[in-house]
Amino acid sequence: MSRFAVDLSLQEIYAMEDKECLQFLIQIRWGSAETSRCPHCGSISNHYFRPLERRWKCRACDRAFSVTSDTVFAARKLKLQDIVAGSLLWINSAAGQPALELKRHFDKTYNTAFTLQHKMREALVRGYNVGLLSGDIEMDGAHASGKDSVARRGRPQVSKPDTKDTPVEELQAQIEEASLTGVAQQKRRNQRRKNAAKNPNAPRDPVFGTQFPADRRQFITVRKRSGVRGYGAVVSKVAIARAEDAKSLTAVISDFIAKGESFLNTDGFGPYDKLGDDFLEHRQANHSEALVGPNGENNNLAEELNFRMDRAEQGVYLNLEPKYLLDYAVETAFRADTRRMPNGSQLQIALHLALNVGLSRYWRGFTHGRHRKEELTHPHPAPARASGPAKGRNPRSPSSGRPPR
Ligand SMILES: [Zn+2]
Repeated sequence: MSRFAVDLSLQEIYAMEDKECLQFLIQIRWGSAETSRCPHCGSISNHYFRPLERRWKCRACDRAFSVTSDTVFAARKLKLQDIVAGSLLWINSAAGQPALELKRHFDKTYNTAFTLQHKMREALVRGYNVGLLSGDIEMDGAHASGKDSVARRGRPQVSKPDTKDTPVEELQAQIEEASLTGVAQQKRRNQRRKNAAKNPNAPRDPVFGTQFPADRRQFITVRKRSGVRGYGAVVSKVAIARAEDAKSLTAVISDFIAKGESFLNTDGFGPYDKLGDDFLEHRQANHSEALVGPNGENNNLAEELNFRMDRAEQGVYLNLEPKYLLDYAVETAFRADTRRMPNGSQLQIALHLALNVGLSRYWRGFTHGRHRKEELTHPHPAPARASGPAKGRNPRSPSSGRPPR
């Protein structure tokens, strides 16, 4: 809320001359105004700058490169100012930003806004917090994506009657009735049955045994406590799994945490029971009794990130496709970790990664139908189909199945 939270505005970006904007990005990419790194041969030097082309010629290999060569923005069509402004607008939205919103602010096409945002997310997925965590670590899982999000865990969702005098039998009957006659409940059950028939090998809830819908995923959070009271977590990492079971959790732990140097804090959810053995200590809070155990055991910071993810999914993005869930989850983790920074610093971190993780693996050629073929889940990526026609296709072209009119 303070003035400190805002140190870069849209006006400042559009007031930049082309040269100033270039200088801004050079500083963010290489951390220096004079020295750059040739993306072709890797030599670091004060390469020859050609001011008219706004490109460098490498002193070692003679090849030319620009500030966006070998970055997620390579072969860009947008002006540099537009890239910086679009990224800032995306950063400024506190809980996430739909592509339609950016398109409206930005006066570009939907595809341009969508691809720009996703390139920024890709930079975070591939570059942000990629090392191992150690210290006081919290871990938790939550359901994400998929239809039927209210009926999480397969339990009938019935509002609790609030009278204390109603006999137990009558309450039971009420619950039965609500779960049998509700049209929504009926629909849910049918949907679940259909999903089960379609996909007999779909993962099951490790505790309740119910089969998950095909598009349900688990969002697994790992957070490091700051150790300062009231300051919350300092580093967050997230993973997506088909089920919060021992196999996925073991993979997440070995990818994310230096076990021998860490304390593990989780809830009492079954699959965690045997995972704490290699840690210095495993503290579990039994959530069926209280949020905090008798000796202060809790994983409330991990829960907090789950709530952030829920709010982004239900309040901003509305419908997250499982294939891109990790991208949105990492975005949410980034927003949580940088929550105390002014927006200019947040932008610099995100742009630094976008300019240093190399070419875009997932979004180059997206508008020409080149879509990601995998879903980034733990323990290993899963193949994923495109969920719709290629964005940007001509609906009248023969490939749409209809003859051209
Ligand atoms: Zn070179």
